[in-house]
This record gives sequence, structure tokens and C-alpha cells, in this order.
Amino acid sequence: MSGEVSCVVLLSGGMDSSTLLAKAVKECDKVSALTLNYSQRHKVEIESARRVAKHFKVPHKVLNVSNINVLLKGSALTDSIDVPKGHYEDESMKLTVVPARNTILLSLALGWCISHGFNSVAYAAHAGDHAIYPDCRPEYIAAMQEVFNRAHYWPVKLWVPFMYMNKGEILKEGFKLKVPYEKTWTCYDPQEIVYTDGVEVVACGACGSCVERLEGFDQNSIVDPISYVVGTR
Ligand SMILES: [Zn+2]
Repeated sequence: MSGEVSCVVLLSGGMDSSTLLAKAVKECDKVSALTLNYSQRHKVEIESARRVAKHFKVPHKVLNVSNINVLLKGSALTDSIDVPKGHYEDESMKLTVVPARNTILLSLALGWCISHGFNSVAYAAHAGDHAIYPDCRPEYIAAMQEVFNRAHYWPVKLWVPFMYMNKGEILKEGFKLKVPYEKTWTCYDPQEIVYTDGVEVVACGACGSCVERLEGFDQNSIVDPISYVVGTR
């Protein structure tokens, strides 16, 4: 792209999209963040997105699209189905697939991007997602770029810089960018610890998302700053 590079970052509040936001702030001339609330069960993610956007002083829009949940049945992230435990490559992780989620989210981001005069949408799909999530694979991203080229009168870039990186590599880049990982949230199955003076929400340490996050920190020999259920790490 020539001229000003402006970017809408799809920010979930997880570590990948938070790292992507930091990268966009460093590399783009103008950045905004968009978080879509589609009634995911882990609403703590949305609070994390707010904290991360505030940290980087980026304009942030949280849009409530939870009514689409009526259409999106059958996922452990939106329905009352137990979140599977284990590694992302396990077959059971298919229960965390929200049907066509990223097509819906990217389409909304594209509309917002064009409407506000931005010229790219940043999306934090990465190599660890390819095994389970069809809408994170390179062939999907290439097809969506085609859609982004033709959906309006001018093309919009779909920027996916982590497409071939694993969690450990993303974290390595994030540490250089000083991402506040203590403000991010990754767990699909948050657990509440009740104290006499309040409740603390901690990560389960056992869902695919936690397992992959912890592996990434281990690869970098750094201790994850967020709290987990005792005994899971
Ligand atoms: Zn978890």
C-alpha cells in the first residue's frame, strides 16, 4: 500500500490479537480496534480487549452482535456445552468451532473499515489454529482477500501477519513490542474462585486455548503473568 496505512484490528482480548494491535500501532499510521460481542461464554475476554486498547491508547469500538447467537448453535463457546479439555489438535476441539464466525466478524470489520476510510483489516489467525478452524487457514484467508478486493469500489487489504507463526513465535514478537500480557485473556473456560471478600476469575489451564498459551510461554522460558486454577501449572 502506498500513502497512509490505516488499520482496523479485530481485537478479541486474547494474546494473539493483542500482539497484533501492538504491531499495528508500531507499523501503521492510524489504528482503531474493533471487538465484537457475539455472546461468547467467556465475556472476560471483552474486558481484556478494553484494557489492552486503553493501554495502547487506541480508539476502540465494542459492538454487541449477540443476537446472532440465535443462528450460531452447537459450539461450546456460545452454547451450554462443556468446553473440551486438551490440545488444539485433538478432535474434541471441533466443539469450539463457532459456525462461520470469522466470516461474520471479518465482514463486519470490512464494513466498518470502509465506512471510516481505513484501508486494511488486521486479523490474528495463526498457524496453531489451522488444524481445527477452517476459517483461520491460508486458503480461507486468500479467499477472503479476494472478497475484500471486490466487496466495494476499491480493494481493502486483509493483513494477517501471524498466519504462519505459532504461539511461541507470536509471544516472542510480543515481548519485543511490550504487550501487557497480564491484561490479555485466552481461556475458553474461566473459573471463579470465591473468597470471603470477593470473587477472582482465573484461567482453567486445561482447555486447548490455555494449553497452547502455556506452551508459548514455556517456549520463551517466561512465566505467564495471569492467574490459573491451582495445580494446572
Ligand atoms: Zn482454559
